[in-house]
This record gives sequence, structure tokens and C-alpha cells, in this order.
Amino acid sequence: MKPFLWDLDHDELTRLTASFGAPKFRVGQIENWIARGALSFDEMTNLPASFREDLKSALNVRTVRDLSVVESALDDTKKFFYTLLDGEHVEAVLMHYEYGYSVCISTQAGCKMGCAFCASSRLGFGRNLSCAEMLGELFEITRFMRETHPDFRIGHLVLMGIGEPMDNYENVLKFLRAVTSGPAFQISARNVSLSTCGIVPKIHALSRESIPLTLSVSLHAPTDAIRDRLMPINRTYPLNVLIPACRAYYETTKRRIYFEYALIKDVNDGVEHARSLAGLIRGFDAHVNLIPMNDVPGSKLCKSPEKQQILFTNTLKQCKISVTVRRTLGADIEAACGQLRRNAQQAT
Ligand code: SAH
Repeated sequence: MKPFLWDLDHDELTRLTASFGAPKFRVGQIENWIARGALSFDEMTNLPASFREDLKSALNVRTVRDLSVVESALDDTKKFFYTLLDGEHVEAVLMHYEYGYSVCISTQAGCKMGCAFCASSRLGFGRNLSCAEMLGELFEITRFMRETHPDFRIGHLVLMGIGEPMDNYENVLKFLRAVTSGPAFQISARNVSLSTCGIVPKIHALSRESIPLTLSVSLHAPTDAIRDRLMPINRTYPLNVLIPACRAYYETTKRRIYFEYALIKDVNDGVEHARSLAGLIRGFDAHVNLIPMNDVPGSKLCKSPEKQQILFTNTLKQCKISVTVRRTLGADIEAACGQLRRNAQQAT
């Protein structure tokens, strides 16, 4: 397969342009088109036709061969379902908040991590996404939205869709640099969140990259006994190495750590669990995001009752832990990660 335009950095694009005998200013023109969201070389109308043909012979622009969009009737949430050039499926979700648009993207087709409560794990791992394919998720959303909202721009980005970003570290890092300082998007790193199940060496590595993003850690349990059951990664990186890594990340970056905690009925939602969670994450700037678990067909695990959610939240507050309960958006369009990919694979 041809390489993707969006995977080339400035120097690589400059070398390619020179190899076709085109003058250097063409590079700036191409980058301008990238910034404007062009999805084909034919849209780059100020490039000579013969140069466009040269570029087409060397590079792909679009990373997807099919896109479908599901819109929520309850709120402004939209789910984008992509078929990549090799037939793999990934998803992204667009959410509208008071402060602007936020996109949740996939970083892998499938996932190897095997978390018991997660739809993405159920159908196994396909492959890593390239930097261009992650950018492609954003380019497609932008094109779709600008048909009705010409000023549309993505303000916030979360790496919380399908896949484990730390298991695709090099490509994700290249993507983060492109999206925060490349020609397109220019999203502030402070408006980017990366969520990980806790691959400890990569948490340390990320802390040294000097990207002021927000690190979210999917914790979901206050003890190794419970976490081992829910998240296989805990057997490799148990809490006594994960929590110190989070603390070290905070010490290095001074960025508050967000802990994701899905409340699962009779598994991790007791008052005693809340107390031990509070003890575990004390002593550095941490925030707990409680998520009422999304039910996943075929799993015995289910959502905590509302009463228990409130009790859990209040217990954390009494322990002086900063906590919020995440609002559910797109409940009618299966906006939770992995759900559409699963449906598509079951249909084929
Ligand atoms: N692999 C990364 C990011 C993808 S999952 C990670 O593990 O963090 C994004 C978030 O959704 C994670 O916090 C994950 O644990 C959570 N999640 C997955 N399935 C869920 C479910 N059924 N209900 C609630 N949260 C879920």
C-alpha cells in the first residue's frame, strides 16, 4: 500500500517534492491544503496537474474507504464508524459541550488488553493505527461537520476509543505531535487526554516527552485482588508499581492525574472500596472520574445501582478526594467504545 500524505513530516514532504523536480514553495502550498482539510490531491487546485499526478502515484490521502455516521436523538453526540483501506473497522465519537467540540478517537483496531468489562476486547486485536489513520479520523469528522457548520473546529481530543494508546506508543506520539503542532488542527496539548490501562514503563516514558497533556489512568479497582480479575494488565503492573508511576508522572509534569473508575455492581462499588481507593491515591493531585458502567452484552458484569453510585461518591468526598460522575452522552447510539465495531464484526 502507498504511504499516507499525513504520515510525512515537513522534511519528508520536502524531499518528495524535490524528487519530482517541483519547486520548494509547493511544499507550503500542500501544507496549506492539509491545514484546510483537503481530502484529495485533486482538491489542491493551485498545484500543476502533472505534479498532482506524481503525488497521487506516490501517496494516499484518505485513510478510509467508507464512513458512516450515527447521530444521537438525545443530544448532539455523533458516532463515526470508519472502514480503513484494508477493511479494519474503528470508531470515533464527537461530543458537543458548552466549551466546544470534543472528539474521542481510536488508537488501534481492536485491543490486546482483555479488560473484563470492555466491548473492545471481545473481538480481539487487529492492528495498530498509523499516525495518518488517527489524523484521518479527525479529517473525516471535520469534512462531515463543515458541510453544515463551516466554522467547525475540534477543540478537545481524548484518546479513549478503541485500543490501548500506550501499546501503540510510537505512532500515538507522532500523532500527538502532529495534532498539536502540525499544519492541521493545532489542538492545544492541554486540551488532550490520553487514557491508559496502566502500562507502567510507557507512563514513565510519556512523562519525559514534555507534552502537557492530561493523563487518565483506568483504575477501576482499589485492590490487586479485584483489579487482577477485571484487568489482566494488573498482573504485570500491579498497584504497587502503577500508583508510584502515577505519582512520579505528577511530580515530573505537575499535571493532575485523572483516575477512571467504572462502578460495577457488587464488584468494586462498596463503601469499603471507596475508602480504600481514597487511601490508595492520597498525597498527590488526583481526580476520580466515576463512570456508571455501560452494560456489555455477553458480560455478567453490570452497572451499579444509582443509590450505590451516590454512596460511593459521597464516601470519596468525605475522604477529601476530588470526584465527579461522568455524564452519559449518546446513550441511544452505543457511543461507548468498541460497541459499533463489535456489531459490524458480528454482522459479517
Ligand atoms: N485502553 C485505554 C483507553 C480506551 S478505554 C484505557 O484502558 O484507558 C476508555 C475508557 O473506558 C477506559 O477507562 C475503560 O476502562 C473504560 N471502559 C471500557 N469499557 C467500559 C464499560 N463497559 N463501561 C464503562 N467504562 C468502560
